[in-house]
Amino acid sequence: MSHVLAAVAWPYANGPRHIGHVSGFGVPSDVFSRYMRMAGHDVLMVSGTDEHGTPIQVQADKEGVTPRELADRYNRVIVEDLHGLGLSYDLFTRTTTRNHYAVVQELFETLHRNGYIVPKVTMGAISPSTGRTLPDRYIEGTCPICGYPHARGDQCDNCGNQLDPVDLINPRSKINGETPQFVETEHFFLDLPAFAQALGKWLDGREGWRPNVLRFSRNLLDDLQPRAITRDLEWGVPIPLEGWRDRSDKRIYVWFDAVIGYLSASIEWARRSGAPEAWRRWWAADAQGSAEGEGGDARGYYFMGKDNIVFHSVIWPALLLGYDGDGDRGGEPGDLGRLNLPTEVVSSEFLTMEGKKFSSSRQVVIYVRDFLARYDADALRYFIAVAGPESQDTDFTWAEFLRRNNDELVAGWGNLVNRSISMAAKNFGAIPSVDPAGLTEADEALLATARSAFATVGDLIARHRQKQAIGEAMRVVAEANKYLSEQAPWKLKGEADKPRMGTVLHVALQVVSDANTLLTPFLPHSAQKVHELLGGTGVHAPMPSIVAVDDLDGGPSYPVLTGDYTVGARWESVPVEPGRALAAPKPVFRKLDPSIVDEELARLGG
Ligand SMILES: [Zn+2]
Repeated sequence: MSHVLAAVAWPYANGPRHIGHVSGFGVPSDVFSRYMRMAGHDVLMVSGTDEHGTPIQVQADKEGVTPRELADRYNRVIVEDLHGLGLSYDLFTRTTTRNHYAVVQELFETLHRNGYIVPKVTMGAISPSTGRTLPDRYIEGTCPICGYPHARGDQCDNCGNQLDPVDLINPRSKINGETPQFVETEHFFLDLPAFAQALGKWLDGREGWRPNVLRFSRNLLDDLQPRAITRDLEWGVPIPLEGWRDRSDKRIYVWFDAVIGYLSASIEWARRSGAPEAWRRWWAADAQGSAEGEGGDARGYYFMGKDNIVFHSVIWPALLLGYDGDGDRGGEPGDLGRLNLPTEVVSSEFLTMEGKKFSSSRQVVIYVRDFLARYDADALRYFIAVAGPESQDTDFTWAEFLRRNNDELVAGWGNLVNRSISMAAKNFGAIPSVDPAGLTEADEALLATARSAFATVGDLIARHRQKQAIGEAMRVVAEANKYLSEQAPWKLKGEADKPRMGTVLHVALQVVSDANTLLTPFLPHSAQKVHELLGGTGVHAPMPSIVAVDDLDGGPSYPVLTGDYTVGARWESVPVEPGRALAAPKPVFRKLDPSIVDEELARLGG
């Protein structure tokens, strides 16, 4: 058994999330966590909403609300969406908690004390007419990289590059159009070059990563520059240094605080569990007696889209190295002790929609909430598992969604469940027993196929090959459907044939039970239903709940996603019990009418 940290990228709380957001890492990280728990590992799955930074401040200004009010609104929307998808977070929190502020400041202070955060004089903007600081978000200009005419002072929304206001071509104030004046101002920078050597050594020791992620990360080391970690902005975590703490115009940059969320959420989870030090089991190198930054049995898996790799394979490890005192300047670990670096960075590719990039402004989009209002969560989870952007950019089309749902989920898996349970219920009223004459070769072969799939499917999920994994599980389903067609138990009606009918249905139900366990990480909602149709009671696939909690340190209360996932099925074949009563089955999946394709396409703009 290992302690497995599933660290899932933090959704930005400036609007509702679309299905592209949850396809790359939201659902896959849940599949991974559910499997790992079923296989007996101690999993801690954490994330939350990322709520600081200029875009939220700008959006709040536009709507005439405070950034906190805006963040509150979308935090709730996102929590409800992730709950609807059944994502089994141990804690899904947010970056505006006092606990998060304290952990961010602890990392900042320690990195500063160890010499990895250095002040640097840069050019900051002031308004010539008022003489006051002009925050980054109020400066607009042409992007020096891609030429986009409406780039913001801190970032170009067209090419995604981080910018400095002074880099903009034709900078202008968004308040009154005047050209800002640039004067010298002090900011803090993370000295990334001081980690180049330690990062290189660490990356060289990585195993099992997707090759493109490793290659991309190594290339970044060739050109590491000091990176600004504070901005001219009022909305964010205060800088915890003398002379800076009380300044309202300078804040820690959102990327620096958000990436620390994995740690602060783990600490918050532990504090809420009543064992405040319990987070160390997933994080503390010392506790496992390893100086390599990777404890004996603690493993950290980070899930994100490919546009976020740099933060997880270079910047976050650099922050941890600096905190541990393992960069070029040495140093001592802070109060939290030595912290583990990631074991693996699992990045996904992008999902497009009907051949186009998702775009809320052009309405090339379907939000999670709207999707779940019209379709079942497991229908989307199935599509993501079999056709998601695991290792290449992938297109979501409604026609393909319809086909996968109707031809594979309903006609394949749903049909197997339905016909085997209804035949057994009708003819025996319960799970039939095996005829004393014993099992045939065909019976044994099918049972063996299902049993051996546990090792295959489990290993594939553990190695982040979920597409192949669900393919193997569905192969068991296809074999079972073929078996039923060949054995044709519906023909074994006479008195003399009935024992054989019982055997065939017993074998079929055993394989339904096994396939259901194999599919549980992917399709938890329907797995619970199938478990109950087989006469099972209790929790088979545990689900998260939304709980309103008080801030642990006196801030405003907020909703979190959490759950008890210690219950539920294990990753093993469990013999079905002859004589256990079966109810008449209800369909587990919904067949969709082909007209949904035209209806959905009509909703799309662009
Ligand atoms: Zn640009």
